[in-house]
Amino acid sequence: MPHRTETDSRKLLRRLRDEMSLASPGQERLDRITTIIAESMGVEVCSVYLFRDPETLELCATEGLKPEAVHQTRLRLGEGLVGRVAKLAKPINSADAPSEPGFRYMSETGEEAYSSFLGVPIQRLGERLGVLVVQAREPRLYSDDELYGLEVVAMVIAEMTELGAFVGEETAFASLHKNPVMLHGVTAQEGEAEGNVWLHQPRVVITNLVNDDSRAELERLNDAVGKLRVSIDELMAAAGSRDKEHQEVLQTYRMFAHSRGWLKRMEEDIRLGLSAEAAVEKEQSAARARLERVPDAYLRDRLHDLDDLSNRLLRILTGQGHETGAEMPERPILVARNIGPGELLDYGRKLRGVVLEEGAVGSHATIVARALAIPLVINVPRITTEALNGDHILVDGTEGMVHLRPDDSVSTAFRDKMAMQAKAQERYASLRDKPAVGRCGTRVTLKMNAGLMADLPSLPSSGAEAVGLFRTELQFLAREKMPRRSELVVNYARVIDAADGKDVHFRTLDIGSDKVMPYMNRPDEPNPAMGWRALRVGLDKPGVLRMQLQALIRAANGRPLSVMFPLVAAPSEFSRARDMLMREIERERRLGHVLPERLQVGAMLECCALAYAPKSFFQEADFISIGGNDLKQFFFAADRENELVRRRYDTLSTSFLTFLQLVVDRCYEAEARLSFCGEDAGRPVDALALAGIGIPALSMRPASIGPVKSLIRRANINEVSEIIARVQARGLESARPALLDYVSTLVE
Ligand code: PEP
Ligand code: MG
Repeated sequence: MPHRTETDSRKLLRRLRDEMSLASPGQERLDRITTIIAESMGVEVCSVYLFRDPETLELCATEGLKPEAVHQTRLRLGEGLVGRVAKLAKPINSADAPSEPGFRYMSETGEEAYSSFLGVPIQRLGERLGVLVVQAREPRLYSDDELYGLEVVAMVIAEMTELGAFVGEETAFASLHKNPVMLHGVTAQEGEAEGNVWLHQPRVVITNLVNDDSRAELERLNDAVGKLRVSIDELMAAAGSRDKEHQEVLQTYRMFAHSRGWLKRMEEDIRLGLSAEAAVEKEQSAARARLERVPDAYLRDRLHDLDDLSNRLLRILTGQGHETGAEMPERPILVARNIGPGELLDYGRKLRGVVLEEGAVGSHATIVARALAIPLVINVPRITTEALNGDHILVDGTEGMVHLRPDDSVSTAFRDKMAMQAKAQERYASLRDKPAVGRCGTRVTLKMNAGLMADLPSLPSSGAEAVGLFRTELQFLAREKMPRRSELVVNYARVIDAADGKDVHFRTLDIGSDKVMPYMNRPDEPNPAMGWRALRVGLDKPGVLRMQLQALIRAANGRPLSVMFPLVAAPSEFSRARDMLMREIERERRLGHVLPERLQVGAMLECCALAYAPKSFFQEADFISIGGNDLKQFFFAADRENELVRRRYDTLSTSFLTFLQLVVDRCYEAEARLSFCGEDAGRPVDALALAGIGIPALSMRPASIGPVKSLIRRANINEVSEIIARVQARGLESARPALLDYVSTLVE
C-alpha cells in the first residue's frame, strides 16, 4: 500500500464531500463511499457496519466483500473484530486478522482472502454508530497516519449518517434519536411528569465538515483557541480566590486550553482535511468514548471538563450561543448534564420536571427542585446525548426512571399511573380541612416544610396547620452575592403575610456541609457534614446571623415570630444564639422598630449529644424540632448523600425509635414543644410510628400531608404504640414489618 500523505487524505475527504452533496439515494451513496475509500487508500476492501439496535451491527455497504452479504451479515456487539471495535470504541489494526483473539470469519462475505484489517469506530459525541473497516490481501500493519486518516473519514461518515444520508428507514440506524429509550437514574425528587425535552445547553450544530483551505482553517482554530484562553483568564479573574472548587475547575480548563497535545491533534485533523469545528468535535468524540471507560470518578470529571471546553471552543468557532432561538416547548422538561441552583430558579415553575446526567442528592439544584416540587431524576447516563429538543419524555421521579420517545403503550401506562395519583390527591383534598386525628382520638399536628416564597401558595391547599420549617438558606444559595438586609426583610415579610396568621418557624442560615454559598470564604474541610456549618458558622462569624435576625424581627413587624437554630450540639451554643437574638431585639427596640408580639425560640435536635443535655436546656428552649435527616446520619454514621449507605438503616429500627422516645420524654418533662421535620415525617408509615412514640407534630413536604393525614385518620395511634412496645420487648431489629402488617389491615 502506498504511503499516505496529507494531500491524499484531503483529496479523499473532498471526494467524499462531493459524493455526499449528490442527490443519489442513500444506499447508492453509501456504496460509492466505500468504493472511494478503498480506491483512495489502495486497499481491496472497505466496509461500513452500522448498528441496527444497540446490540447488533449490520453490514450496510461494502467494496470488495460479496455484495449479497450486504444487509444480511450481522454481528453482535463484541463479536468478531468488527464487534470488538464497536464495543471497545477503539481501533483494531492487524496484519494478520485471523490470528487475532476474537476473530470470527464470516464465510458469506468472502473475507477469508484478506489478511490485514483496520477497523475504526464510527462515533459521534459518545454515540456509537458503527464501524468502518478496510482490509487487504497483503499482510501488513497500517501506519499511524493511515489509522488517523481513517478515523477522520469515519468522523465525516458519522456526521453524514446522523443526517440520515445513507440508509433507508428500515434500518434502526436511520432511526437514531427516534427510537424509544428507557434510562435508569437516581430519585432526587419524587413525582411524575410528562412533557417535552428542553435542553439546557443545546448542541452546537456543525454544517461544514471538510475544509477547502487548511491554512485558513488552522488560523481559525488558533484564533478561537486564543479567544478561549483569554475568556478563561477572565473567568478566573472574576471568580477571584473565594470559590476554591470553581477555581479548580477553571485551572483544569486552563491546563487543557494550553495543552499542546490537544491542539496538535486538532491541527493534524485539519491538515488531513477537516474543518476546524469538525476537528474539535472529533477530539470531543474521542474524549467522550474514553469517558465511558474511565472508572475513576476524578478522571471522569476531568474528561467532562475537556468536554465543556470543547463546547466553549465550538461556540466561539460557530458563533452559536446558548440561545439558539428555539422556542421552549409546551410542558418543558429540562435535560442537562448539570445545572446550578440559580439557573434552575430562573426557569422556576415553568418546568414540569428535570433530568440530569450528573447531580447529587444533596446538591443545591436538588434542594431547589425539591422546593419547587418538580420531579427530578439525577445520574441518568447518556441523557444529554440521547435527547433532542422537543422529544416526548416521561419522568418517573418516584422510580428514578426516564422514558425518552416512549411508545404508545408505555405512555398509556404512565398516564394511568398519573391519573391514579391525581385521584388519590383529590381524595386527600377532601380531607384538607379535617384534622389528623387517629381513631383513638389522638391528634397529630401536621405542618409543612418550605424554603422558597413559591412554596407558600401551597399552604392553604395542603391542609398544613403551620410552616414547621422554613429553610432560609435557599435565598442565599441561589444568588451570586450576599442578599442585603432590606431584601431579606421584604422576603420574610412576604412569607409571614402569605402564611396568613399561621406560625412560620424560620430556621436561621444552615450553610456549610453540602450548602455552600459561592460568595463566602470557606475552609477546605475533610468532612464537611461534621464540620464548620450551620450555627457553628453563625456563632463564630456572627455578622450574617445578626443581619438575618434583624431582618426577621423587622419582617414580623409586631406579629408573632418563631426562630430556630440548626445543628445545636451543646446547650451553650443555644444559649449564645438565643442571647444574640435577645440583643438584636433590644437593639431594634432602641432603633424604634416594632417588636414581635410573641417570640418563640427553638433548637433543632440533629446531634445525638443534645438529647442528653441538662434539663435546663430543654426548659430554656420554647420548642425542639428534630431534624431527622441529619440526626439519622449521625445516629447511624451513614452519610445522607452517599448512595451506598443512605438507605441502609431504617428510621423504624428499634434502636432509633428508642432514642427518639428518649427525646420525647426529655421534652415532655421540661414542657418543651416537640416536632419532627426530617423527610421521614412525610412517609405515611414512618409518620404513624413517630406519632406512635409520642411526637405530637410532624412537618413535611406539602404533597405528603394528604397521604399522612389519610393514614393517621384510619389508624389507632394507641395500637401503634403497643405494636412498637411489643417489637421492642421482643428484641426485634425493626418495627417496620409489624407496622406494615398493621397498616395492611386498615380499611381504605
Ligand atoms: C434535617 O436535617 O432533618 C432537616 C430538616 O434539615 P436539612 O434537611 O435542611 O438539613
Ligand atoms: Mg439538618
